[in-house]
Amino acid sequence: MPTHSPYRGRFAPTPSGPLHLGSLVAALGSFLDARAVQGHWFVRIEDIDPPRCPAGAADTILRQLEAFGLHWDGEVRFQHRRDDAYQHALERLKAAGLAYPCSCSRKQWRDYPIYPGWCRDGVCEPEKPLAWRLRSDLGERPIRWQDRLFGEQTFDPATLGDVVLKRKDGLWAYQLAVVEDDAAQGITDVVRGIDLLDNTPWQRQLQRALGYPEPRYLHLPLIVTPAGQKLSKQNLAPPLADDPALIRRQLFWALKALDQAPPVALAESPPQEQLAWGIANWSVTRMAATDQRPAP
Ligand code: GLU
Repeated sequence: MPTHSPYRGRFAPTPSGPLHLGSLVAALGSFLDARAVQGHWFVRIEDIDPPRCPAGAADTILRQLEAFGLHWDGEVRFQHRRDDAYQHALERLKAAGLAYPCSCSRKQWRDYPIYPGWCRDGVCEPEKPLAWRLRSDLGERPIRWQDRLFGEQTFDPATLGDVVLKRKDGLWAYQLAVVEDDAAQGITDVVRGIDLLDNTPWQRQLQRALGYPEPRYLHLPLIVTPAGQKLSKQNLAPPLADDPALIRRQLFWALKALDQAPPVALAESPPQEQLAWGIANWSVTRMAATDQRPAP
């Protein structure tokens, strides 16, 4: 296990189904970025939404990562065990006046591009089930950071809206959970798909509000269907191969999708060899700052 590097990265899949080529690219990018600097690389299963997570999907994902040679450090962390930590973070936000209860349903604000903040100064219908939202208009604005691939980013979180932190059904929402766990795991570098770029401003806002360090961000191009849609379970992206020959080819393809230009001779090599090459040659500057790559 690597020891001296301060780098701590993670792959944080939602176990809504098996990994596909799009998730392989995200996993591989974050793995190579960590291992290229002898950093730690963790796996966190983001299973905060049980209805979306079929039984066995997390195990399948872990098996797939191992089959592709993407071995992680330490224990796998599961978000469903972290209720107390998320609640504690929410209490701190409430105490700071940065989180408020909200009874509004999406149907009520469907004519607006974002939730208009009607419950900010008092819950509209207190007898209804309540969600908790972030005051996106308070705190430092705009939020700026330097993405390692896409460069300077500037967002006003208030134009993105008061994101939900805890849902009406009591389940935790992604933004609070991810910030809490990135901080708890001491994550220094977040490497993930560019579909999450516009979630980053809320996460940075939460990090500041909670006094957590701000990781560096590297958003990776998305793998898309011929119609330009992100590969996903919804558009029936096939799961990763489990046949050893196909695993080699898919891993090689993923290196190419990350613009790493692996030598053709590597295409039939076992995962360990391909990954060793990938680690030795990892270059973010070699990547084109364009947000999509076609699926094969
Ligand atoms: N769980 C999220 C997903 O599967 C990714 C979270 C992250 O990398 O910040 O899309």
